[in-house]
Amino acid sequence: MAAAESDREVPSALCTEFLNFSVKDTASKWLQVTDLYKEVYHHLARYVPKIYCLGPNLNPQSEDLLAQMLLQAPLEWYLCGEDPSTGLAKLEQNNQPSQLCGHVFKVGEPTYSCRECAADPTCVLCMQCFLGSVHKEHRYRMTTSGGGGFCDCGDTEAWKKGPYCQKHEPNISDSCHEDPLAHLSTDMIARCYNVFSIVLKYAVDMLTWDKEDELPPGLEPPDRSDSYYCMLFNDEVHTYEQVIYTLQKAVNCTQKEAVSFATTVDRDGRKSVRFGDFAFCELAKSVIVRNTSRQSKPLRVQVMHSSVVAHQCFALKALHWLGHVIGYSDALRRILCQVGLERGPEGENSSLVDTLMLCDSKMWKGARNVYHQLFMSSLLMDLKYKKLFAIQFAKNYRRLQTDFMEDDHERVVSVTSLSVQLFTVPTMARMLITEENLMTTIIRTFVDHLRHRDLQGRFQFERYTAQQAFKFRRVQSLIGDLKYVLISRPTEWSDQLREKFLEGLDTFLELLKCMQGMDPVVRQVGQHIEMEPEWEAAFTLQMKLTHIISMIQEWCATDERVLIEAYKKCLTALTHCHSGFADGEQPITLSMCGHSVDTIRYCVSQEKVSIHLPVSRLLAGLHVLLSKMEVAYRFPEQLPLSELSPPMLIEHPLRCLVLCAQVHAGMWRRNGFSLVNQIYYYHNVKCRVEMFDKDLIMLQAGASMMDPNHFLMIVLSRFELYHIFSSADCRKRYNRETANKDVVQQNNTLTEEMLHLIMMVVGERFEAGIGQVEGCDEIKREILHQLCIRPMAHSELVKALPENENKETGMERVIDCVASFKKPGVTGRGLYELRPECAKQFNLYFHHYSRADQSKAEEAQRKLKRQNGEDTALPPPVLPPFCPLFASLVNILQCDVLLGMLGAVLQWAVEPSAGHWSESMLQRVLHLIGMALLEERQQLENSSEDNDFNFTLKMSRPGEAPSNTASVLALLENLQNAPHLEVHKDMIRWLLKTEAGIKTLRERSASTSTVTASGSRGQEETACDKDKAERKRKAEMARLRREKVMAQMSEMQRHFINENKELFQQSLEELDASTSTSLEHSPTSSDAALVCVGPRRSRPREKRQVVTCILCQEEQEIRADGKAMVLAAFVQRSTVMSKNRKRPPHDPKRYDPLFMHPDLSFGTHTGSCGHIMHSHCWQRYSEAVQAKEQRRQQRLRVHTSYDVGNGEFLCPLCECLSNTVIPLLPRTKGSSSCEQPGLGQWLKTSGQQIKAMHSAHRKLQPVSTVEETVEEECPAPEVFTVNYIPTNPYSSTIKEMLTTFGTATYKVGLKVHPNEQDPRIPIMCWGSCAYTIQSIERLLVDEKKPLFGSLPCRQDECLSSLARFGSACWTAACQPTVQGHFIRLVAALIPDPLVEASPCILDVDMLHLLVSVVLSYGSVHSQDSSGLSVDAVQLHLFHLITVAHMVQILLTSGPEEVTMEQESGEAERGEEEGACRLYNTLRTHVGSSLPEVGSGWHLWRCVKTGILPYLRGAALFFHHLNGVPAPPELHALCPGQWEVLCGYLSLPSNLLQLFHSQQELLEPLLHGWCTHPGVQQTLQGGGVLVSFPRESNSLIDLPDDYSALINQASSFTCPKSGGDKSRAPTLCLVCGSMLCSQSYCCQTELEGEDVGACTAHTFACGAGVGIFLRVRESQVLFLAGKTKGCFYAPPYLDDYGETDQGLRRGNPLHLCHERYRKIQKLWRQHSITEEIGHAQEANQTLVGIDWQHL
Ligand SMILES: [Zn+2]
Ligand SMILES: [Zn+2]
Ligand SMILES: [Zn+2]
Ligand SMILES: [Zn+2]
Ligand SMILES: [Zn+2]
Ligand SMILES: [Zn+2]
Ligand SMILES: [Zn+2]
Repeated sequence: MAAAESDREVPSALCTEFLNFSVKDTASKWLQVTDLYKEVYHHLARYVPKIYCLGPNLNPQSEDLLAQMLLQAPLEWYLCGEDPSTGLAKLEQNNQPSQLCGHVFKVGEPTYSCRECAADPTCVLCMQCFLGSVHKEHRYRMTTSGGGGFCDCGDTEAWKKGPYCQKHEPNISDSCHEDPLAHLSTDMIARCYNVFSIVLKYAVDMLTWDKEDELPPGLEPPDRSDSYYCMLFNDEVHTYEQVIYTLQKAVNCTQKEAVSFATTVDRDGRKSVRFGDFAFCELAKSVIVRNTSRQSKPLRVQVMHSSVVAHQCFALKALHWLGHVIGYSDALRRILCQVGLERGPEGENSSLVDTLMLCDSKMWKGARNVYHQLFMSSLLMDLKYKKLFAIQFAKNYRRLQTDFMEDDHERVVSVTSLSVQLFTVPTMARMLITEENLMTTIIRTFVDHLRHRDLQGRFQFERYTAQQAFKFRRVQSLIGDLKYVLISRPTEWSDQLREKFLEGLDTFLELLKCMQGMDPVVRQVGQHIEMEPEWEAAFTLQMKLTHIISMIQEWCATDERVLIEAYKKCLTALTHCHSGFADGEQPITLSMCGHSVDTIRYCVSQEKVSIHLPVSRLLAGLHVLLSKMEVAYRFPEQLPLSELSPPMLIEHPLRCLVLCAQVHAGMWRRNGFSLVNQIYYYHNVKCRVEMFDKDLIMLQAGASMMDPNHFLMIVLSRFELYHIFSSADCRKRYNRETANKDVVQQNNTLTEEMLHLIMMVVGERFEAGIGQVEGCDEIKREILHQLCIRPMAHSELVKALPENENKETGMERVIDCVASFKKPGVTGRGLYELRPECAKQFNLYFHHYSRADQSKAEEAQRKLKRQNGEDTALPPPVLPPFCPLFASLVNILQCDVLLGMLGAVLQWAVEPSAGHWSESMLQRVLHLIGMALLEERQQLENSSEDNDFNFTLKMSRPGEAPSNTASVLALLENLQNAPHLEVHKDMIRWLLKTEAGIKTLRERSASTSTVTASGSRGQEETACDKDKAERKRKAEMARLRREKVMAQMSEMQRHFINENKELFQQSLEELDASTSTSLEHSPTSSDAALVCVGPRRSRPREKRQVVTCILCQEEQEIRADGKAMVLAAFVQRSTVMSKNRKRPPHDPKRYDPLFMHPDLSFGTHTGSCGHIMHSHCWQRYSEAVQAKEQRRQQRLRVHTSYDVGNGEFLCPLCECLSNTVIPLLPRTKGSSSCEQPGLGQWLKTSGQQIKAMHSAHRKLQPVSTVEETVEEECPAPEVFTVNYIPTNPYSSTIKEMLTTFGTATYKVGLKVHPNEQDPRIPIMCWGSCAYTIQSIERLLVDEKKPLFGSLPCRQDECLSSLARFGSACWTAACQPTVQGHFIRLVAALIPDPLVEASPCILDVDMLHLLVSVVLSYGSVHSQDSSGLSVDAVQLHLFHLITVAHMVQILLTSGPEEVTMEQESGEAERGEEEGACRLYNTLRTHVGSSLPEVGSGWHLWRCVKTGILPYLRGAALFFHHLNGVPAPPELHALCPGQWEVLCGYLSLPSNLLQLFHSQQELLEPLLHGWCTHPGVQQTLQGGGVLVSFPRESNSLIDLPDDYSALINQASSFTCPKSGGDKSRAPTLCLVCGSMLCSQSYCCQTELEGEDVGACTAHTFACGAGVGIFLRVRESQVLFLAGKTKGCFYAPPYLDDYGETDQGLRRGNPLHLCHERYRKIQKLWRQHSITEEIGHAQEANQTLVGIDWQHL
């Protein structure tokens, strides 16, 4: 027992109690008492207030411990009747583990559902079960849980297949149906029963307790103190900010405490914010209430007695404990269920479970969560009690929902959200429907909550207040429950189920009746409507009910009797609706073409019309089912078919369609956007299935029962076109009519729409039951028509297709028949393309096309046909035949009224005038004729017997009125040659050809002689072939012409690019002429080997360097004394190469950057876009930008993608983010002097020079030390003039630019304010040069590119300028300062007693040292007139540092790897031997801390690989500094690089010779290096030991399966708020840290500003630049500084080659390595900031985001 540690924290009074307490004795006492209930309550009353809530600061650990000791332990002992540790173990042994997994999901945890096997989308698996299930091989969906809900593994009703994972697979030998209580003794059962009833009763009493100052009887504390809590409760009304602000005022806390209070209140639902006596707490309460009651209802606050709070705390603990104890045994679980559901003293619905549920809305969030969890682990895990619980839940349903409406908490914390666990179990749902009439209950409750009705009893959502709107949103959850109940269709029907379902349907029809005709509109004429009417609520309702309506139809489709009854009920409901609003409509008679019909007078444009007709639409759906299930043919006597009045059926759907047509025609413009939106949603994929589609079906149903002529006349009349087509001489009169132009236009559009409607009525046959089609034909056709518009990505297709209630489109089953998949590249996404053979099924007038879709598809299809050399006619496709119930619809195509209309339009087209017709009208007429011809041909082909469809006959008859007008056929022939109808020529030709074909077909079948038929057919074919050949020839010519034009275009383009290149790239070519890119110009390359450093270095031919300014376009030569030219550059801090991200950032004020540590933890990188300007042009440009930005920011308060105040600007040419400029300098001329001193001589001279400088510098300093006199005056060499101040070779503008770049590098690199005088400026510049070279060298290795020749010009350019700038920057600084740097740098290699604290060589990055020392030497050399050449010094320094690096490598080489192959050729013997010798020398100096290594092979290998990056860096450096072209071998990745590289660097290829040939001179240096105390210390593990070569850093490894990341993130808790789940877990891709982003809890202060966790992390991990993966969003986040950021496509793709940003689609995602490598490359080449800049320029909304709070 852990008593010893804990009792120190426990108040002493309790301490004695505790020591005297015996668990066993208490339990024994309990076992003997008669009234256990009273005894336990007494115990609780005594101890609970002593343990819990003793002061303002709760101490959960010690409270829990005490509660365990004093309260739970005796209960457990009693329960087991013995020591619980043995008792519970016994229980566990006998446990029959449940086959249900029941894992309760945490927020953000991944859940999996199988698209193939899940009964419905709410059936989910936890990750563990999923991985062990068969579904991981299926098409699955992955989502993140919103919290709550549990894993359905093991639930056989949830899965069509594979209900168990490997772990939960039931053991067949087990008898599953055994009573779990059988294993328990009666005593045990009784005890258990007692404990559970008392504890559960206690918990329920306390949690539902609503008195603040009193306790339930039996729990009153023995002694009462005056201690209270001021308890704050959460609501969904007040914001975080309001609460935080109020708390600071009310309880005098800091902002931080207030944030913590607010967070807890939000999480747990309540939090005590003050502890003290009653008055003290009451005061705080009044302040809070006063402060929050202004705008809304005040925050809820209660002053509660501490003992009440204490008991409530323990009550929660007790529920946890119950949950824990029943985990040991299924028997205990069952007893608890029994206790919970046992009927209480108040009769029905009074069990403890009922009490809890019914008080749900009064409890705080934390309490609700705890008891919901207990329900899930007990009642829902026991199949027997789950059923009983479901019944209670259903009984209370109405009240629970009503409470929920009043409650303002989210649904996830309401007990009503448990419905998903109960209602989605199919057997349970059916049981609840039959026994508890659940379907009716749900719908009734729903209807009751929508109270606002108009006079006719229809819903009215106008003038909804905010509160009503809120309620309306809440009430929608009922529809969700209804969906759960209906989601699985019954396979068998009982009479009871039929009865209750039909009763439910009755209620549902009542609901639909309230919707039929709601939100009616009246056309506004004259003036615009004043206020947009509310329409969204009605549409939301419609949208939510869409799936319900579909599901009800599907239920009906499973039982004939139900279908028949439902049909009758629906018809009755519709008749009832119609009787309601038929008044005022007078009968009239229409007649046309010898037919006449009676109808009513009604004008859509004048009277009320509504778009909501759910009753008609449900009837339409059922009508199709009558046909599909063949009920209409088998039981016609049971159907009320004779009661149907077709004109009544079509009336309202037709009005609705006419309304759409009139809106298209612009007649409803004055009704505003609300109507436009309604029309949009009416056709939208989300609604159309139960709106537009069903209206069309209703027209089809009605028309199939009517005389087609009558139907068409009614249609004409509703379209308000009857007067045009019915007049006796309509063909003529219409032409002469001089109507208002608008009216003509309107009528044209209406005619077009009407013709389209006729096409749809006759042509839409792809729904099973209407046409004779298979189930998947419909979806195939949808996809086909989408792809006719253009190739589409998977997600685009999904969006365009209607989803069923399971969120499935059914696309996967058919997509491969109609489309082929094209994979994506590194960007973009995978696309589906239409299979070419499917194009012939294209229907231009596809009913789901919008007008825009239609014209896009038309264009695409015509283009395709042209490309294939075919004619461009787009004839209608061949259609499947109708089902018998709808078969008569084809007669519309050959009825007199239609032919009359066709004839009229054709006649208008023959004599076009004054715009009384339109081409689309004609196009539609031609299409209709085509449909008719195809119909006839098909009927002829399919049936041998005569049929009465004879369109060819009708079309060749002359028109009826006026008499003797031309026939349709004649008109077509006439039009064939009309010049103004060129576009339609192909189509007309196709029609005439088809017509001729049909005639032959008829003749052939009529006459016995086949000879003539085949003859004419042959003739026709030859004519056809001729036609084809001619068209082919034309197409070929057109193609040639096109190709010629294209060639001309591309020639022009190439020319233009060349012109531009000359303009902008000329400079680069000029500069590079002598270097890498143009070897052939260099005379030295041919004869001698190229050398880039030392006295033997190759001298490139001097050449004038001329560049062009991108701003003024003037040419300028680069000269030291000329006008300065500058390169736009971007300097940034970098940790890309860091080997030590834990090194704390330096103090910028005191940090000495002279030596770079080999761990490269922080560097300064310089990049450039390579664009060159005059310095004065740039200055003028940046001043203008600055002024403009300041004005803009003042005026618009907007930010830009760049920070002008920080010196940032965009390159004027390429808009690349820049923050300074680098001056371009001429190459330094090497003096080719003859004799140069050897190493020994030089060491001596330089030693003297350094001494001379030391003494000179000392004189400069103020006299402060006495030592000065002691120091002997050092005689300087005669040729070395210490006081000589060299003339500055640079012009004033160049000098200025030297300062500009130096200061910028210093400012950015150290993060300090600019200071031109700071001695660290040159150091920063050299450092940046070295760092940039190193990073480019790494990049080339990583990209597997050769060292030279593969860099883009801009990087070459940048490196050259950096190197040359570095060698000149001393001229802009104080000379002694730079000399001082030189002296200290040299002292790291050659001991100098006057320099203190030189670093040990293990702490120096050698390339940085090389670059700095070489570049700083200029300041020393300027005072040397001895003829010593810079080249010679460079070489000596280089060799020296190279030796030092070898030593460094050998010291850090580590033990040899045994497994390596150790054979070496003759050639390498020397090297190996040398390496051994050097290593052994080192061991004599360093001693035992260096391990013994036997193999020279290993040592040489270490040296060679370790030093290579340094040598390559040095080659880049000297190449750019001295401008010596690189040998061609280094332009490729060929073998033998080592030798060439050494040659180029003037090194022996056996590097060890460097040491051994100068051993006497170097030996003392070596000794100095090795005996440095730092070496010993580091080798013994006292510092960061970096080994060489340094590996390139990579972004972290990501798992292949994205769900692994989600899982990782879901277990991540916020580091600051004690185990809370993080809302936006975000992964740093650089170091792998998980962060709690975008949240108050993890904000920290950075440089005086509050920043989010990500921004704070970038400063520690990436020097201000960060790359993150937002796990919940599946989105990459780039951050730079505090203000810049952008989102970037994640490297995870689904199988369709698409990313899923926001994780909305839930397709499984897998890592795409190419895309991840691309992100890594951006990072490695320091382009993240640039990428953000481009993204922000392209998308201004990104600029406004508060990146710093992420
Ligand atoms: Zn599971
Ligand atoms: Zn499982
Ligand atoms: Zn499956
Ligand atoms: Zn210029
Ligand atoms: Zn640029
Ligand atoms: Zn990081
Ligand atoms: Zn946090």
